[in-house]
Amino acid sequence: MTDERIFLGFDVGGTKIGIGIVSESGKFIAGDRIENKDTNPDDILPILVEKTNKLLADNNLQKSDIASFGISSPGPADYANGIMTTPPNNPLWRNVPILKYLSDNLGIKGYFENDANAAALAEGYFGAGKGSKDYIYLTMSTGIGAGMVAGGTLIQGNTFQGGEFGHTCLVPGGRECNCGLKGCYEAYCGGRAVAQDLQKKLADKPDSMIVKCAGSVENIDMKALQEAVEAGDEFAVQYWDEMLERNAQALGSLVQTMNPHKIILGTFAWAAGDLFMKPLREKIVKYCWAVSYKGCEIVPSALRRDIGYYAGAAVAMYFENKK
Ligand SMILES: [Zn+2]
Repeated sequence: MTDERIFLGFDVGGTKIGIGIVSESGKFIAGDRIENKDTNPDDILPILVEKTNKLLADNNLQKSDIASFGISSPGPADYANGIMTTPPNNPLWRNVPILKYLSDNLGIKGYFENDANAAALAEGYFGAGKGSKDYIYLTMSTGIGAGMVAGGTLIQGNTFQGGEFGHTCLVPGGRECNCGLKGCYEAYCGGRAVAQDLQKKLADKPDSMIVKCAGSVENIDMKALQEAVEAGDEFAVQYWDEMLERNAQALGSLVQTMNPHKIILGTFAWAAGDLFMKPLREKIVKYCWAVSYKGCEIVPSALRRDIGYYAGAAVAMYFENKK
């Protein structure tokens, strides 16, 4: 076996739980996924333990070979105690002490973080943020979550709400956000919010290119918008441009506040590539000082779809290294 430390990670999502075993240099040793849609934690947690034990055994690993495990959890949560409180996409999971359950049943020490922070740590150790001590990762998927690392330290905040940048107000009194506030960054650029807004705007426009790309108004999503933009549809191009303006506004304020070395962008950015990245890089200069932007690279995620295999392990590695 290797002399490197080995970490185990769990990535709890609304439809799946990922298990990943990763070495500290980023070597992917093994992984698995279990279905987690509409599950009861009392049913699924024993299966998770069983699958993990099997994965370790199949890879000739003893419990003592694992330095520790980490959990990447959707918020909101009791972060100090590792309890998932009211995750919106796991309706049956209420006040689940997952950290204690897995520690007790696996016999391995564990750590707990929210999914955006976990993904940021994963990109930092194993992906696009490697070697950087000042960087920000944004999830850019259904919602917009962020993980911020300054001077090598994850910004957790006084009440563990650090990095909830998706709910920074861009437009006072603007679009209603699912969080209850108005004008949040996520309300303009999050996948669910954009889909809802387009569905409303195009409800009586069945001939719209975006509706055609989606198949129906109800199916409109970011992918359909992107396809309509690529096809040169005027409304879609205009909408995309305004959305990128909001992204630039948000990221510009991050650059201005934190002067990061890198901003790493999740799903939409790597899915759309230059169509997303190019206008963003051009527009951002309006929203921050050139001296702050100098040396800041805005890049898509390197781990992409695989990030879930690394996220939990990165949480474990970070807290072990911080000790
Ligand atoms: Zn909000």
